[in-house]
Amino acid sequence: MLAIGDYQLHSLTVQEFLFDGGPLPSRVDPTKPRPRVRLATRLLLIVGNGRRILVDTGVGDLCWTSRWAANATTPYRLEEELEKHGLQPGDITHLVLTHLHSDHIGGAFTCGGDRLVPVFPYAEVIVQEQNYRTACRPDDQERLSYNETLIEEFRQLFLFRTVSGTHELFPGIDVIISNGHTRGQQLVRVSDDQTTLLHGADLIPTTAHYPTSRVTGNDIDARTVLEEKAAILEEACKKGWILFFGHDPFRHAATVLRGPCGFVPGPAPEF
Ligand SMILES: [Zn+2]
Repeated sequence: MLAIGDYQLHSLTVQEFLFDGGPLPSRVDPTKPRPRVRLATRLLLIVGNGRRILVDTGVGDLCWTSRWAANATTPYRLEEELEKHGLQPGDITHLVLTHLHSDHIGGAFTCGGDRLVPVFPYAEVIVQEQNYRTACRPDDQERLSYNETLIEEFRQLFLFRTVSGTHELFPGIDVIISNGHTRGQQLVRVSDDQTTLLHGADLIPTTAHYPTSRVTGNDIDARTVLEEKAAILEEACKKGWILFFGHDPFRHAATVLRGPCGFVPGPAPEF
């Protein structure tokens, strides 16, 4: 557990999956196995001031998608992870979604007969207006990343709160906007006088993303990613921020140090 201000922070690793790796489309040579990278889905739980806030949900129990079901290598362990902190999904008061890509929101629903059922029935769902608009009308580049059924379920069933731009969500918790991976992604930041933790979302989802010359194949705007990443790593390095990783299978958090060839991960507290 990590305490920042009035909040206790917990890291919940709920699933692992495989994702296409490599700089070229994976079907260049159909005779070779597809290069695959092992990734985690990890959620940030923030408890304090009468709130139990969950940042992202992971892919979920996969009943709604054969595409993700084929990629998952472990079952979805949301309930077990929440239970470690004496909580159930119904206790979550706020669900803050970094962005509406399916691997970040799929766990918000489970299958009930012929329809999807919300897993967090009492949670207010907070998402950036610009990302919501993108998710409702994805272009060809992003069509595979957003799932129409999930977005529509959110719209109908949840108390959906859209916010715009840099915004203090609650005292001590604000967001940084990033547009390179997808439009209107929000990176959640928790801070007090001494400690700052920033959820890297899909701008800096693993320590392998520290090099400021690297982007991910499904980033929509490589130049913007590089600029946003460099600015955040620079500030994190200077101010001793802890970065939280939603997809790193090996580390849940790290600080940022300057090495001879660029930024490198430094030690971070266990929580
Ligand atoms: Zn992701």
